[in-house]
Amino acid sequence: MNIVLLGAPGSGKGTQAKALGQRLGLLHVASGDLFRHHLGLKTLLGELAGSYMVRGELVPDDVTIRMIAERLAEADAAGGVLLDGFPRTAAQAAALDAMLAVLGQTADGAVLIDVPDAVIITRISGRLVCPTCQTPYHRSLLAGDTCPADGALLERRADDAPEKVGRRLEIYHEQIGPVLSHYRATGRLHEVPGEGSVAEISAAVAGAIDRIRQGR
Ligand code: AMP
Repeated sequence: MNIVLLGAPGSGKGTQAKALGQRLGLLHVASGDLFRHHLGLKTLLGELAGSYMVRGELVPDDVTIRMIAERLAEADAAGGVLLDGFPRTAAQAAALDAMLAVLGQTADGAVLIDVPDAVIITRISGRLVCPTCQTPYHRSLLAGDTCPADGALLERRADDAPEKVGRRLEIYHEQIGPVLSHYRATGRLHEVPGEGSVAEISAAVAGAIDRIRQGR
């Protein structure tokens, strides 16, 4: 089973994908994490992607699609993936169907975590991320400034700076309509409200994935 998690930056996709991926036995593939990994290794792809990421802009489709196609062709993805942050454009959504078809698979469903912009802005302004395991946390829920899982000093992502967040949300709203239409038109779109506790949202997303699994 391959599932796409959709939602604005800061909608909680990453948190949900990490928890649910483990629970459902699906590999969590996050395009932003893959780009940040390349950026950290200073690969050519990382340098190219970094120039877009610092501005909060999308990396061009051809580069992004190639990176995801390569990741999905790896052996550990064969048992099913939970995609987080990809697709973000209509071209990427079409490319995902095509690349999975080549592998004899399908994108079984897409779950949209729907969060109002005002809530997103509050969440992102307090977001800290572990540079080692990439787990996101919110300042207000932490006792200190280190990762509870591995002790690394938490950081604020450069693109979480307030002046970048507005632009990222603007791009999200510009691009997401056709992506939603792509999945809605083929009966694969499931929407869940993204406000509430992590556990409540997790239960809603898990319910949507259950419906996808049962073909409802
Ligand atoms: P994220 O961690 O998902 O917020 O992604 C961080 C940044 O990586 C984005 O602001 C984009 O610059 C880039 N990025 C991640 N996923 C994609 C994608 N599917 N298409 C284009 N750019 C992406």
